[in-house]
Amino acid sequence: MIAIAVHGGAGRWDEAERDAAVAGVRGAAAAGWQVLETGGTSLDAVTAAVMVLEDDPLFNAGTGSVLNAEGDAELDAGIMAGDVLTAGGVACIRRVRNPVLVARRVMEATDCVLLAGAEAERFARDQGFADHDPVTERRRARWRAARARQAGERLVPGTVGAVALDRGGRLAAATSTGGRELKRPGRIGDSPVPGAGNYATAQAAVSATGWGEFMLRMATAKAIATRIESGEPPASAAASVLAEMARSFGAPIGVICLDARGAVGIVHGTEGMPHAWRTGDDDDFNARFAA
Ligand code: ASP
Repeated sequence: MIAIAVHGGAGRWDEAERDAAVAGVRGAAAAGWQVLETGGTSLDAVTAAVMVLEDDPLFNAGTGSVLNAEGDAELDAGIMAGDVLTAGGVACIRRVRNPVLVARRVMEATDCVLLAGAEAERFARDQGFADHDPVTERRRARWRAARARQAGERLVPGTVGAVALDRGGRLAAATSTGGRELKRPGRIGDSPVPGAGNYATAQAAVSATGWGEFMLRMATAKAIATRIESGEPPASAAASVLAEMARSFGAPIGVICLDARGAVGIVHGTEGMPHAWRTGDDDDFNARFAA
């Protein structure tokens, strides 16, 4: 059994961008599926899927990320291999094209789990990642409008992520984001932190999106993985933890998760969360704006 699920961020999407967002996540799932189908690892599949979304300026990750209070893009990304419990992440990194690749390099080429800020960028350059400005004109215009409103209203959807199961039964998860628009410079969200916005074990893989501070406080991805490990179906595990978060914080969150049998869970408390998935049982990709 192989399986992949991808999300493009829980939040409020412009009506006009919904179809493109669904096409985007479908394309990302297809990139991951292609890896799995040809015998590749779940780690390569989630990397491939997240890179597609980081490169698509529609999504809040990589190129096209939202801007912080000072008008800069500070990117977070995390990746985890469930079979060996290895994880890597970068936080507040500014000028790279694919933060997920740098996160993976942190996992594979250092003895650290997380690198942040200027030193993360220096590490990226040392490893051969080229300088890349992820700020787009469209995000800059939206940032000006958001700053003028300063209402904290979330018009901008957040975060992309993928979970996958490969032929060898290995699970992996990856998550990448520009974080929250108008965030305080230096702020780090849930996405790069194992157990908060991203997590994988031998039995569960989870990628989350939504208000990161609440996920850091609840260890959301870990809480969902623990339920899946105790035998709960992924959809019910995610729904239980999201309901708990809604009760505690009123926080609308979105999650995709997978278990080692390829069962998929897709749950969100927001109006939308473009997502796509495919498992060995499906003839084609399933792709939707809302679950
Ligand atoms: N979880 C992301 C963060 O807080 C943002 C989002 O998914 O909306 O950085």
